[in-house]
Amino acid sequence: MSIILDIANYFVEHPILMVLMFLIYLILFGISVVLFGQAPKPNSNPFCFDATKRPEPLVISQAERNKVLKQGFSEKNIPDNIDAIIIGSGIGALTTGALLSKVGKRVLVLEQHDQAGGCCHTFIEKEFEFDVGIHYVGEMKSRTIVKFLLDQVSQGQIVWDHLDSDFDMVVLSNKMDPEKTKFIPIRGMGYGPFKKKLLEYFPDEEEALDKYIQLLKSSRSISRSLVYYKIFPKWLVKILVWTRLMSLISSYHKYASKTVADVLHGLTKNVELKTVLSYNFFDYGVEPTRSSFAIHSALMNHFINGGSYPRGGSSEIAFHIIPVIEKSGGSVLVRAKVSEILVEDGAVVGVRVRRAGGGHVDIASNVVISDAGVVNTFAKMLPETIAEKTSIYKIIKNSQVEPGTLSCMSLFVGLNGTAEELKLPNYNIWCFNCTDACKAITDYAKLTLDEALNSDIPFAFIVSPSAKDSSYQLRHPGKSTLTIISTCMWDWFKDWDKERVKKRGSEYEDIKKQFMDKMWAIVLKFYPHLEDKVEYMDLGTSVTNNFYLGTVVGEVYALDHTIRRFNDQEVLMHLRPQTDIKGLFLTGQDTICCGFVTGLYSGLLTASAVLKRNLFRDMLALLKKVNEKDKLYTKSK
Ligand SMILES: Cc1cc2nc3c(=O)[nH]c(=O)nc-3n(C[C@H](O)[C@H](O)[C@H](O)COP(=O)(O)OP(=O)(O)OC[C@H]3O[C@@H](n4cnc5c(N)ncnc54)[C@H](O)[C@@H]3O)c2cc1C
Repeated sequence: MSIILDIANYFVEHPILMVLMFLIYLILFGISVVLFGQAPKPNSNPFCFDATKRPEPLVISQAERNKVLKQGFSEKNIPDNIDAIIIGSGIGALTTGALLSKVGKRVLVLEQHDQAGGCCHTFIEKEFEFDVGIHYVGEMKSRTIVKFLLDQVSQGQIVWDHLDSDFDMVVLSNKMDPEKTKFIPIRGMGYGPFKKKLLEYFPDEEEALDKYIQLLKSSRSISRSLVYYKIFPKWLVKILVWTRLMSLISSYHKYASKTVADVLHGLTKNVELKTVLSYNFFDYGVEPTRSSFAIHSALMNHFINGGSYPRGGSSEIAFHIIPVIEKSGGSVLVRAKVSEILVEDGAVVGVRVRRAGGGHVDIASNVVISDAGVVNTFAKMLPETIAEKTSIYKIIKNSQVEPGTLSCMSLFVGLNGTAEELKLPNYNIWCFNCTDACKAITDYAKLTLDEALNSDIPFAFIVSPSAKDSSYQLRHPGKSTLTIISTCMWDWFKDWDKERVKKRGSEYEDIKKQFMDKMWAIVLKFYPHLEDKVEYMDLGTSVTNNFYLGTVVGEVYALDHTIRRFNDQEVLMHLRPQTDIKGLFLTGQDTICCGFVTGLYSGLLTASAVLKRNLFRDMLALLKKVNEKDKLYTKSK
């Protein structure tokens, strides 16, 4: 008895201990709720069975494809009794929609463009089909977790062609002596072959390469703790941050708090090697001095086994997910620009859609999910009096996050001849105009339009969708395509943003022509034989992105992927599926980061938040079952 009294006295004398124990209890309780979830609701598991089916033959008829991808918005097409409205039709939206539909929810997806898919859409000009925002995707060569997720939402209908094992080629131009231009392949067959290949070009840099690879390997698990910020309740995240437990749980911030440039500086003095080890920074749109190593290492790990391309082009993605959304009575409607998210008494009640002929249509739903990006959602679609009370609005207003500052120009080229005849590569070319790519881009971004027109383009990303897609000749016989992407600034083109698309006038066309010539000249250095094969050529600029992709200032990957975005704990916890407004959810690249596979994961997180169920756990359970079944099948053969 006296021992108990002694302990009680001890606690009374040390009240801080009581507070600490209470906090630990709260944390453990929070973790148990998150990990084990609320009691699962019956029939709310979209991963009850393996939805994968043998791929059907490719649908080649464009008219048939348009019946799925281009269903126009009209009042009579709006389904009754909608359970959720999704704004935008990118991969985050489609994944969320398909998962909700798989548990019987009726979902309406509203897309402002004239076809569904967001960055995954393709367009056809003069019989040439171009993709927009999918040039290669990692982790699609075997049944990885994310490929399994894609198979579940698309019924296993998306087939992948694989790029060469040297899937990227880095070109370091030497202007003084073009003969000394270096061509350095990036091998995507695991860490060992990646290093071995680079060692051929940098024989004195083995130590730096070893350290770099070690960093990549040890950072593989950190994305999990990025996700903790998104799935743990905010109060729990706040406690974990306040008690510094978040940093103890994982080494995420060890990587997130350093820029790519700083990490590379610590590894080597060799400028060429630094450029090669950060060559793909435009995959997240931020130069190495401003980007976080956590995101760079995630990208490198994503592509460590190479890249793949969707057979039939990237429109295959929306083409096969939309029917899953339709199965539960849902619809994906295009030419449906949401002008306002309707809120009453702090809760979402629906959306307002602009009618083509003028006026608007209000559609009711107490669940609205936005895939249109946080700036569009909070600074454009929500009434300011409502938005300004939310934490996301505050981080936008405090400039803790902002739309990407580097925009892009995309040159689309249609060529006569097959990829084989024209010797087009099935790998990507990253061509830099000098060895110090980071400095070149940083300097270029400071130029005015006139200065840029009188300067070299610092880099060009050259890809041939038709060479990567084994079905291209079947679909577009005797034709080939090239896409060349480089950077530009919003300021250079913003004056034409309000002009009508394709009718922006001769000054705009003249500026475009000058950039086109520069970009095409880079291609001709490698492929001079293409000069007389061109049948179609046009350039998209930052205002083109605004029109077709619904961006704000022509940004490539929505919010800028700066070190601040990925290291500021407040930002990390607010960019999540749930918002401060009841019934309003977010999905897509702003909730985690850019990229096709991250879009899939964002859809999984958002559907989990809407259904209040840990779908990641459900998916892993199904994956385990399917793998075990396959093992038994293989053994029995
Ligand atoms: C040029 C480029 C190249 C890329 N290359 C690759 C690559 O090779 N590999 C890779 O993995 N990733 C790549 N990405 C990134 C990847 O495509 C994106 O990160 C991802 O697809 C984004 O998906 P999302 O769900 O966030 O939405 P998004 O695809 O951005 O779609 C959002 C949709 O919302 C719509 N919208 C906006 N406002 C409204 C409104 N008011 N009403 C209705 N609809 C609205 C838009 O029109 C758009 O369709 C690339 C992106 C770009 C731009």
